[in-house]
Amino acid sequence: MSTIGFIGLGIMGGPMARHLAAAGHDVVGFNRSPEKTRALVNAGGRAAGSVAEAVAGADVVALMLPDSPDVESVLTDGVLGTAEPGTLVIDFSTIRPDVARDLAGQAAEHGLRMLDAPVSGGQGGAENATLSIMVGGADADVDAARPLLEVVGKTVVHVGPAGAGQTVKAANQLIVAGNIALVAEALTFLQAHGADLPAAVEVLGGGLAGSAVLDQKAQKMLDGDFAPGFRVDLHHKDMQIVTSAAAQAGVVTPLGALVAQLVAATRSAGDGGLDHSALFRTIARLNGDLS
Ligand code: NAD
Repeated sequence: MSTIGFIGLGIMGGPMARHLAAAGHDVVGFNRSPEKTRALVNAGGRAAGSVAEAVAGADVVALMLPDSPDVESVLTDGVLGTAEPGTLVIDFSTIRPDVARDLAGQAAEHGLRMLDAPVSGGQGGAENATLSIMVGGADADVDAARPLLEVVGKTVVHVGPAGAGQTVKAANQLIVAGNIALVAEALTFLQAHGADLPAAVEVLGGGLAGSAVLDQKAQKMLDGDFAPGFRVDLHHKDMQIVTSAAAQAGVVTPLGALVAQLVAATRSAGDGGLDHSALFRTIARLNGDLS
């Protein structure tokens, strides 16, 4: 069993840390808003008052933070100078691939082993421990992390060296955003035709148009239930990652560029705190259906 310092106990990190504690690991959690440690303590974990306190004595440090600057600052201010050499750092956050590569290099200079291990599967995947985890890093480190990764995930795949997990995650976010936009357009189109919406969603789900997005988001769009989930603000961050990583590679992603604009427009309209299925509201607005 490992001692795990877990930093970032939000929508995703909270349930992941609790699963690790329930599996018998000694999980010491820290979150910027401290009330979020309460559920971990109730699940058998411990609460720390700072990053350094969570990291002291840990064999493994797990991070589940919003964005690249958050991971950079937690790592440089609280982990690199505190963690024992040999500590395994697993960053579950979705950040820029180039930043992940750079941080893995800095960790190595401090004698630490670092993996990028972004996840897909949403809040439900975190709560049910069924996440897909795309892992970048060295073979031996991935082997060492695998028993922990399999506590929180169902599909754990080593996709390449440091940064490769984030590259695959960027592709994941491109597909998910495009899929959400098309489901939103299809539902708006069906509504305009007065179609039987539950029947339409059921039959679409059984054919080639079926997807996890259709299964998990269509009814929420129809119900106007946009409680997050995965916030539009975070998907906006991810579309910026896709856009810049595509430009770095000299790749054009025309649909991705358009969807990035739709996500940005959703945010500009004040919906940044809603679930990313609120892209439906942007499509509705474009059709004059929302004020
Ligand atoms: P969240 O905002 O719910 O959680 C982030 C947590 O980190 C918050 O509780 C915040 O207080 C804490 N935090 C921020 N800065 C901190 C710091 N310096 N020190 C300590 N704690 C700090 O976000 P989330 O939805 O859990 O997403 C986390 C990451 O996972 C993001 O990179 C996101 O893109 C990714 N992700 C989210 C989902 C999803 O469905 N929510 C799915 C896959 C991946």
